[in-house]
Amino acid sequence: MIPEIEYASKAEINNFQVGKLKVLLQYLNTNSAFYKRLFSTHKIDISTINSLEDLAAIPTTTKDDLQQYNDDFICVPKNKIVDYVTTSGTLGDPVLFGLTDSDLDRLAYNEAISFACAGVGQDDVIQLMTTIDRRFMAGLAYFLGARKLGAGIIRVGNGIPELQWDSILKFKPTYIIAVPSFLLKLIEYAKQHNIDLNNSGIKGAICIGEPLRAQDFSLNTLSKKIKESWNIELYSTYASTEMNTAFTECEQQKGGHQHPELIITEILDDNNQPVAKGESGELTITTLGVEGMPLLRFKTGDIVKAHYEKCECGRNTMRLGPVIGRKKQMIKYKGTTLYPPAMHNILNDFNEVEAFVIELSHNSIGTDEILIKIAVNTPTESLLQSIKNHFRAKLRVLPKIEFSDKKEIQKLQFPKMSRKPVMVIDNRNQA
Ligand SMILES: [Zn+2]
Repeated sequence: MIPEIEYASKAEINNFQVGKLKVLLQYLNTNSAFYKRLFSTHKIDISTINSLEDLAAIPTTTKDDLQQYNDDFICVPKNKIVDYVTTSGTLGDPVLFGLTDSDLDRLAYNEAISFACAGVGQDDVIQLMTTIDRRFMAGLAYFLGARKLGAGIIRVGNGIPELQWDSILKFKPTYIIAVPSFLLKLIEYAKQHNIDLNNSGIKGAICIGEPLRAQDFSLNTLSKKIKESWNIELYSTYASTEMNTAFTECEQQKGGHQHPELIITEILDDNNQPVAKGESGELTITTLGVEGMPLLRFKTGDIVKAHYEKCECGRNTMRLGPVIGRKKQMIKYKGTTLYPPAMHNILNDFNEVEAFVIELSHNSIGTDEILIKIAVNTPTESLLQSIKNHFRAKLRVLPKIEFSDKKEIQKLQFPKMSRKPVMVIDNRNQA
């Protein structure tokens, strides 16, 4: 199931992608009202785009573009759309991604080769601990991918540790797909109910939504906590609806591998210029082989670092390191640039912290302020001091930290219509 192109040389991969890009540009110029207009407004002759570097001549596409011109991005008539997926738009209204029959095949292929990359095979059974409905793409992709790969899948959905364990003990899956912090809940439940974690038959977890590793690929606090109790392999997978593509770790667990037949990637700085190798920047993607709503130079908003050296697994494809943060949530604080996930990591080091939320605001002179509200069982001055010391040691700056009521924090974390808990409340762009 592993495509040969992943083992091809860098030059071969590059040529292969240029060929695919030419096909995409023709397709967009014929079928996409948005890109047709973009090419004509900027006087772009697509026949002059003959390398991946030439892409720089084309303006980037933003989330706001998707929202403002949603219909213009859709390249097929409505009766060709099979599955309706939406993402939350930055301006409020959801953005529709219409998937055609062929897009669903592509999605299945994408997930099948991603599973294969993480070592899942035909004899494996995967327990899905994420939502498959609610107009989400991910759960459906996992289902289709497992089917394509020939593996079994048990769709339990998210939450409910009791039901998850019931299913694990009864049907003996070998892999699970979950948010890593949920694995802690599974561990807690198992311990309370005398379930032997390390004889459960689970070999590995494919983890979404939260990073497992530091930038050097060493385990972060969350995955250390998981592995202390449950000796399973942890594979990170990173994907989004806009990308229609996943970056999943191989057995080396050193970043998510790119699939060259499915996506072109660029890592750009604030001025839309490529960053130097080894620097972090905004992941910008071009989808390949998408029929319903293909995207060209779409800025994902995620800050990442790319790794280009050959992987020990033999693949020559680029790997993406753990997401450093959302570009929108970048904080300039006392001369340091930081992102909320770094603060999540520090707070995760304290078992006493039961819940937290990070509030960002502008102060009277227009610079960023950070207030972290934490809930603990027994608030003490010494605990607060040790949290502060840990911040100073790890981040070299100290945000404001205060104790708050758990119920209050949970109310902030789950506003109406939210699909997942809100860990960061950003009040900086309000008047
Ligand atoms: Zn690898």
